[in-house]
Amino acid sequence: MPAKLDHIIIIDIEATCWEKNPPPHQESEIIEIGICTFDIASAKPLTKDSILVQPERSQVSEFCTQITTLTQTQVDQGIPFRDACAILQDKYLSQKRVWASYGEYDKNQFQKQCQSRHIPYPFSSNHLNIKTLFAIVQALPKATGMAGALEILNLPLEGTHHRGGDDAWNIARIFSHIILTARN
Ligand code: AMP
Ligand code: MG
Repeated sequence: MPAKLDHIIIIDIEATCWEKNPPPHQESEIIEIGICTFDIASAKPLTKDSILVQPERSQVSEFCTQITTLTQTQVDQGIPFRDACAILQDKYLSQKRVWASYGEYDKNQFQKQCQSRHIPYPFSSNHLNIKTLFAIVQALPKATGMAGALEILNLPLEGTHHRGGDDAWNIARIFSHIILTARN
């Protein structure tokens, strides 16, 4: 089936993490899914959303809170990963649309987590890597992080870095710049 080309869904996840390896019997899991819809006609970000997800096999470490600001108490009020995947499909039609993220990490983590829990993968195979796209468009010798890309474009980072919703929004602003430049 051809992709529905009205919006692109831009995704940025946050996950449990540690300074080094995970402690025994824990593994990195998605704790936030940031979702930004991007209007293809205008090449502008449209909506921003954040879904908090309860981890099942790990806990939010102090180190993780330092990076993301997310606490165990906050993610305890989230929803199960399976329900979050259902929202992506039902509300965002994530299997019918092109989706994008900054790098391959978000895609890899979704694939891994869906596989290990026997949850249907909520996305189409039509994935755009905006990190690589940005590096190519700018002829960078090496791909840069999201904050670095905003700096190159002289765009201020809006919201809180390492929060899924805000990261997805900022990635959409980078993507908007790429697309509008290409169309001019
Ligand atoms: P980001 O989208 O850049 O906020 O990163 C996504 C996830 O990658 C975070 O939620 C962490 O799980 C992990 N991460 C990001 N930066 C670091 C870091 N410096 N050390 C360990 N994990 C990190
Ligand atoms: Mg992030």
